[in-house]
Amino acid sequence: MTEREYRTPCFIIDEEKLLRDFNMLKDSLEASWNHYRIGYSFKTNSLPWLVTFLKARGVMAEVVSDDEYALARWLGFADGEIIYNGPVKERASFEQALLAGGIVNLDGQRELDWLEELCGAHPDRRFLVGIRVNFNLESLCPGETTMGEEGGRFGFSYENGAFARVVERLRRTEGIEIAGLHLHSSSKSRSVDIFRAIAAMACRLKREFDLDLSYVDLGGGYCGGLPGRPQYPDYFPAVAGVLREEFTPERTALIVEPGISLLSSATTFVTQVLDVRDIGDRRYLITDGSRFQIDPTMIKSSYLFHLELDPSGPKERPEMERQCVSGYSCMEVDRLFELENGPELMAGDRIVYENVGGYTMSLSPLFIQYFPDVYVRREGELKKVRERWTPREYVQNCMLYQEEI
Ligand SMILES: *Cc1c(COP(=O)(O)O)cnc(C)c1O
Repeated sequence: MTEREYRTPCFIIDEEKLLRDFNMLKDSLEASWNHYRIGYSFKTNSLPWLVTFLKARGVMAEVVSDDEYALARWLGFADGEIIYNGPVKERASFEQALLAGGIVNLDGQRELDWLEELCGAHPDRRFLVGIRVNFNLESLCPGETTMGEEGGRFGFSYENGAFARVVERLRRTEGIEIAGLHLHSSSKSRSVDIFRAIAAMACRLKREFDLDLSYVDLGGGYCGGLPGRPQYPDYFPAVAGVLREEFTPERTALIVEPGISLLSSATTFVTQVLDVRDIGDRRYLITDGSRFQIDPTMIKSSYLFHLELDPSGPKERPEMERQCVSGYSCMEVDRLFELENGPELMAGDRIVYENVGGYTMSLSPLFIQYFPDVYVRREGELKKVRERWTPREYVQNCMLYQEEI
């Protein structure tokens, strides 16, 4: 299928761009810290094609729920190729991962209890675990973190002594080895300084607690593919410079868990104008895309996009001061942006949103319309890698009302 033959709305992933960004990640890790693992963040976008594309390149699965763990297994990751994070792990998959030598980063008291009981049940085994660290990143990078002064809620707090108590508790139990630290922290800035501060925290913890670590996991949260913003080759030399104070690549692997930075520049969302209407003195463009599909958390104030005018439409398009681009849903908030001083758009014209790979396909609700088609562009041809959902998929696992029980 070629361009314009496909049905909108749809996501298109450009394989060449995806590969370029992936190689940029690999090459910069290789150059800065040649002992590394990449764990792809499933929650960012767990489209099966995408996940298996990355798996074919040696990437591990980074998962934060039992469902994601099961999806990783379904898609062919062995237990040892999974990084199991987050506070809502389930006990069975937690034990399965540890018994198989997967990477498990502890996040909560109940996991400590599970771990001790697992050790009791397998006195002949050694279990390698990581600890998710919660630390005051905001004080090191003022104004840059997502939660600001309030701080994040994940992991064990360094400042209030919870981290120290966990280290002590794990050291008391025979058969447990503290193999790694997990320092994922979300930031608004995604700056290189954030990652320098994270690396410095790893060094500080190693010194203070005399840890012998086989990995330092920086987590995700990188920028990628945005002009004027940092790229992989900016982060890893800076991180390596800090880590080398306390660590060597021979002894300690660097783990990274990229999500959005890997996918965004490769992914577009193609929508089409369905209807043009004037209400009072305002012009509305009703499109077949929705804000729910590319900004499900309703936080974006602007979008990267380009227009593709319908080649069969009029050649001359007068400029219009304002056109309100809105979505298909019946909610008034479903307005994407004001197109200012643009060509007057008509039904059939396309608005193509750029940089929409992360937190879109996975987070979009099944609201009014179901999941749209996803295509991959390979050598100019489009291949469908997810068929749009229909009522058939929607009703799966549902029971219908029956008068008789
Ligand atoms: C969300 C998340 C990531 C990925 O974050 P991006 O911003 O998409 O790079 C990685 N690790 C953990 C633990 C996460 O929660």
